Amino acid sequence: MSQTVRVALNRPIRRLFDYWVPEGRQLCPGQRLRVPFGPRSAIGLVVETGVTPPPGLELKPAGAALENWPALPPETLELLSWAASYYQHPLGECLFMALPPALRRGQPAELTAPESFWQLIDVSGSTNLPANAHRQRELMEQLRLAEGPVPWSQLRQQGYTKAQLHSLGQKGLVRAAEKPAVNQLPSTTESNLPPLTGAQQEAFRALPQECGFSATLLYGITGSGKTELYLHYLQDRLEDAGQALVLVPEINLTPQTVARFRRYFGGRIVVWHSALNDRERLETWLRVRNGEPVILIGTRSAVLLPFTRLQAIIVDEEHDSSYKQGEGFRYSARDMAVFRAQRNHCPVILGSATPSLESLHNARTGKYTRVDLTERAGNATEPTISLLDIRSRPLEGGLSRPAIQAIGAALEARQQVLIYINRRGYSPVLMCFDCGHIAECPHCDTRLTYHRRDRALRCHHCDYQQPAFRHCPKCDSEACHPVGQGTERAEEVLATAFPATPVLRIDRDSTQRKGSIQSIISQVNEGNPCILVGTQMVAKGHDFHNITLVVVINADGGLFSVDFRAPEQMVQTLLQVSGRAGRGSLPGKVLIQTCHSDHPLLQSLAGGNYLAMAKQLLTERQESALPPFRAMAIVRAEAPSMEEALGFLDQIRQQLTDDAVEIWGPLPAALARKADRHRAQLILQADRRGHLNRVVSRLCADLDSRRLPTSLRWIIDIDPLET
Ligand code: ADP
Ligand code: ZN
Ligand code: ZN
Repeated sequence: MSQTVRVALNRPIRRLFDYWVPEGRQLCPGQRLRVPFGPRSAIGLVVETGVTPPPGLELKPAGAALENWPALPPETLELLSWAASYYQHPLGECLFMALPPALRRGQPAELTAPESFWQLIDVSGSTNLPANAHRQRELMEQLRLAEGPVPWSQLRQQGYTKAQLHSLGQKGLVRAAEKPAVNQLPSTTESNLPPLTGAQQEAFRALPQECGFSATLLYGITGSGKTELYLHYLQDRLEDAGQALVLVPEINLTPQTVARFRRYFGGRIVVWHSALNDRERLETWLRVRNGEPVILIGTRSAVLLPFTRLQAIIVDEEHDSSYKQGEGFRYSARDMAVFRAQRNHCPVILGSATPSLESLHNARTGKYTRVDLTERAGNATEPTISLLDIRSRPLEGGLSRPAIQAIGAALEARQQVLIYINRRGYSPVLMCFDCGHIAECPHCDTRLTYHRRDRALRCHHCDYQQPAFRHCPKCDSEACHPVGQGTERAEEVLATAFPATPVLRIDRDSTQRKGSIQSIISQVNEGNPCILVGTQMVAKGHDFHNITLVVVINADGGLFSVDFRAPEQMVQTLLQVSGRAGRGSLPGKVLIQTCHSDHPLLQSLAGGNYLAMAKQLLTERQESALPPFRAMAIVRAEAPSMEEALGFLDQIRQQLTDDAVEIWGPLPAALARKADRHRAQLILQADRRGHLNRVVSRLCADLDSRRLPTSLRWIIDIDPLET
């Protein structure tokens, strides 16, 4: 007898497709297959078998399966089905997210050409390398630590180049090697783990001992050694055959974290992030899917991979907004990690020095257990934070005199300094001082940022750029000047003020070239006096031991924003940046420049007590009945005109007559026009999440059944981070 299967396709449509399977062929849920679709064929994933087809419908026969095992095992299938319905996203697109690109395209689930491996020949030879060959020396150190052949893909991920390998090869220091048999990969080198400090031991004992489900919020201040705790935890609790998932916000920014894990777990560590090529993704995916006992360190989408023996999940920097996907399938990897741990009956640990209000709330209500680690590890002490009111002070490139003096003093003492500034580019505005004209993006409701290096005006929201003008396009005046501070300008000012000290800039522009961030990091790690200037990128997880001074150029951005999350995010960013100071044996100092030094939020920030601030912010959220005290969803619409976008949302508003759902809007989005599309939103809130989800799901079904103009696009954002 032939059976009927229900198949999901990688298409943005909220429906599945039925096919009959010719007799004698067996298919199971999660399996990849080829199916006829329209005039062509498509790759599909079996969602259900033994389906009773709707009567009277003539089904087409399914094509061949691509392999005889399910690409998505039952647990992954269940996870993604849950996510599709929770986030109101088409199931097909969700399921295909769990496949590497090659498999989405229908390529075979196997690796073709063998990969090259590299091995160290001569350790002592590194002394003969030229003094400035930092990266080559590091490369040799990596190979030495690995104690065996290392695959090229791994070295590439760490930012090394074939040129560096060949250069070392010519000097007879390294050589290409045979692929080692899997069991020869370097195993755990236990003795390398430094013993936990007293405070860490206490926290360690409070971490889950049982293997069933539990969710723990690890509140560990910056520099308390959360990574050390994760390492010990995994080493202690993970069985030899078990898999673990470690989610991190960014891998390329903090390659030292992966290096620390590799040092202890060797070949068991695999990585997953957007800079991998298709082959590397397929390779990692296969190891995960085959149930190898890997510890996977990955960014957001790693939470979707087909693990089969998951025994522990760690979400580092759980407050980080990059865990929430900002377009398409708008899932939160942190929340899915918790759901996944539940399904797998395993512990999940959410770690942060600045936990999200959501997680703190969950800890309060008993959903999570909170574990505190409030001492810095080693000799390090917490930095002191002072506010520097700049209202009546003259500024030089955004820096006040006292800040410049403090920088000078730190450099004099052969220490390092970090300058945090919220904006890349030279200045956020290029303005005509005669008529007041300001350069704006012709496609977005935003100003163009001035980039001096290539004299360009760029939109940071779309691809638009134009040459900077010398003469005002309005009045032809020559008095056009940059206004405000960006990283490039700070870099220039500091290089002039401290000509003998290297100034290193870390932002999206300066780190585009592969390996550039790694070479900045190694230079900082050498410990010589230098000034680091950067955006949020410098705040994320770095562990530099000789930074004793952090200067925040301007803290005021988040104080008066309309977004209800802005104060929370501001406090988190400022404390994370501050946490880069004083991580070694010397004490750290943080100077926060502001025009509002009497603002209560900044005042408590100077006290450095995150939990007290979070408590205050939670009270405010409760008083205004905002998340996490209520569930929120946003219907976002985009159209060629604002009228259309608002009109569409207004119809929805009329149609939603549920008293338990409070509706705000429709209103234009914060960025009302982006790349010539007009954007508006309708905010829905309800006391009960389940109720809101049902309302939203009915709304989606209704919108799907309607004929809408093709130029109008809508999407539902569940638990939105941006309002
Ligand atoms: P966090 O992630 O909490 O900010 P890290 O895990 O980066 O902190 O640790 C901060 C620093 O303290 C690192 O340099 C780390 O090597 C060091 N450290 C952490 N735990 C210990 C320990 N038990 N003994 C010695 N050094 C430690
Ligand atoms: Zn002008
Ligand atoms: Zn633009």
